Formats: sequence, C-alpha cells, structure tokens
Amino acid sequence: MKNVSDIIAQESFSKEELITLLQAEGQERKLLFDVAHARKIEFVGKQVYFRGLVEFSNICSKDCLYCGIRKSNEKVIRYEASDEEILGACRFAWENRFGSVVLQSGELSSPAFTERVDRLLKAIKQLSNEELGITLSCGEQSRETYQRWFESGAHRYLLRIESSTPDLYNQIHPQNVHHSFEKRLECLQLLKDCGYQVGTGVMIGLPFQTMEHLAADLLFLKKLDVDMVGMGPYIEHEDTPLYVFRDQLKTKQERFDLALKMIAALRLLMPDINIAAATALQAIDPAGREKALKIGANVIMPNLTPCDFRKEYQLYEDKPCLDEDAELCRNCLEARIEMAGGEIGYGEWGDSRRFINRRQGSSH
Ligand code: SAM
Ligand code: SF4
Repeated sequence: MKNVSDIIAQESFSKEELITLLQAEGQERKLLFDVAHARKIEFVGKQVYFRGLVEFSNICSKDCLYCGIRKSNEKVIRYEASDEEILGACRFAWENRFGSVVLQSGELSSPAFTERVDRLLKAIKQLSNEELGITLSCGEQSRETYQRWFESGAHRYLLRIESSTPDLYNQIHPQNVHHSFEKRLECLQLLKDCGYQVGTGVMIGLPFQTMEHLAADLLFLKKLDVDMVGMGPYIEHEDTPLYVFRDQLKTKQERFDLALKMIAALRLLMPDINIAAATALQAIDPAGREKALKIGANVIMPNLTPCDFRKEYQLYEDKPCLDEDAELCRNCLEARIEMAGGEIGYGEWGDSRRFINRRQGSSH
C-alpha cells in the first residue's frame, strides 16, 4: 500500500489514496500540510482575499436538518436587514478595500425576494463605482433568477452540495421535493451555464459520514471543476433534528482536524482554485481560519453583518464574532493573517486562477 509521501508526489488520486491522506497522522500529517502549503504558494501565491460577509436575512423556506435557522425552528427571531444596513456594510467593505462582498441569506423564491436582491446588486455596483465584486449565497433558484442576478452584477455564487453522496444528502435533509439532491446538482449546472464563478463545498464530520464519503466529495469537486470551495466542520445545534445524533459524532477537535486535512488534500487535487477558510473552523479553534490559511486556504470572509442580527444567524452552536464590529474584525484579521504568513490582497476581486485559466483557454 502507498504511503503519504508516495501519494503527494502524484497529480491525481484514487479514492483509496485520498482516504490515506485524510487519515495521515504525526509526521505524515505534517508532510501533507507542508506540501499543501507549498502547492498553494506555487499556484495562487500568498495573497489572502477578503470577502465581506453580509448575512442579510435569516428567513428561510427550507428545513435542512442540521441548520439552526431552518424554517421550523420557532426560537429564532426572524429578521431582514434594511437596504440602508446592507448597503452600509457594503460601503464599509468598499472603503476598506475588501474587494468583494458575499450576500448570504435563507432561501426564498418569492418575486419580492428576487426583486429585492436584484435592486441591492445594482445599488452595490453603483455605490462602489462598479468596483466591489459580489458573491451571492441565496440557495436554489430558477434559471431566470440566476440569470437576472448575474446580469445585475453578481459574478460568483456559493451553493454547497453539503454531501455529494445522495444517500447521505437524503439523511440530512427532509424527504420532499424542496430538498432534492438532483435539484441541487441541477442548480450548480445552471449557475455554471449562466457564467458565474461557482463555489460549492461540504460539511465535514456529519453524523453517518465516513472517510469514503469525504474522499468521494473531493473527487466530486474535481469532476465538477469548480472555481471555489468553502467547506468546514459540521457543528451541532440543539434546536435541530440532527442534534439527537450528537453522541455519534467525532469530537469537535477531530472534526476540525479532518476539515484541515480535507482542505490540504483539496489543494493537492485542485491547486489553482480559491479555497475559503470557513467560519465554522473558528467556532472550534479561535485560530482555526489562520490554521487553514497555512495549509491551503486563500480566502477569508470577515463578518460584516450588523451586530444586532448576528445572534439570530446562529447556524450552529458557538458561532464566533457575535459582538465584534466590522472595524475591530478587520484589525484583528489583518494581524492574524500576517501571523499566518499571508498578505492581504486589498482592493482586488481575487478571482480564482482556475477561472482565469479556463477563460483564457476558451478564448484561444
Ligand atoms: N440558505 C443558503 C444555502 O443553504 O445555500 C445559504 C445560507 S446557509 C446557512 C450556508 C451554509 O451554512 C450551508 O450551505 C451549510 O453548509 C452551512 N451550515 C448550516 N448549518 C450548519 C451547521 N450546523 N454546521 C456547519 N455548517 C452549517
Ligand atoms: Fe435554509 Fe440554507 Fe439553513 Fe437550509 S442551510 S435551512 S436553505 S439557511
């Protein structure tokens, strides 16, 4: 059987080889992390890009079994940030040269919601002289809606597949047409067809999840040829149905460690994509995101959600930065990124090398 040092010298990996990487311990684990870091510097440089995250509404029509803001959680106070609040956060991002923002929310498909997002996109472009890049993360939508938002200024979209194994996907979602694996896949394809840079990802350490599932997830990301990946540990939330399986979970530390290995293995598998250091890493380890930057991630999403709303956007327990205002968050991040040996790509969109290479390839 091959060991880690044989495997990391390769450019492509079988499922079994990926499992070996995900199980690396001691010196082999260190080797995996060192090589992933070197591969990151070689392919995407040491720049770290900011995406200012604005969680503009927690109103959601879906009931994902893991998520704290699922429709059936009646303990959540629902909010919708005003246009002024959202645009104020985006103005802060622009003035502080963040380069890009991410507008994230629960999933709604009403005409009023579509219209509102559309209006906000145009307003953000206007307030920033067309300079701010905009990523959307508003769930599954129709082709027309994705197209409309793209034309109004969104150029990246995040839609996690959550798990690429249909059986596991079905175990963590209600069994109905509103939570269909096939629809999720179809949406990822629609987004690509519309011209978005597409980001997806999975949760790591879910109940019922095995190493085989995670290795299959990595191969799925490669096959889909995505531009960006955001993946982080699954963290339980007491007001969700999956909470009953909490005794079957790996420890939080083990989930954290597995998430780092997933990021490192992905950097070897897809060296020129953007990989985000997920906020959920920080919920387990205060320096979690910086650790991810050291082993392969190159994007970080400082939270710009107005403080009053943050406690109502609790996807999981111990979500960090609940009371840190945006200015404080920026200063603290800057110091942390420097400590992790990175350099902030201020004022840049920071598109993924993969996307740029693909576009250049297709224009020849
Ligand atoms: N509603 C949109 C969607 O589902 O794509 C965007 C917002 S949703 C809250 C963003 C992501 O949060 C999901 O894709 C999911 O992976 C993550 N998330 C939700 N609950 C989580 C949990 N308990 N632990 C870790 N991540 C979680
Ligand atoms: Fe809604 Fe997204 Fe949470 Fe699912 S993960 S319940 S779609 S906010």
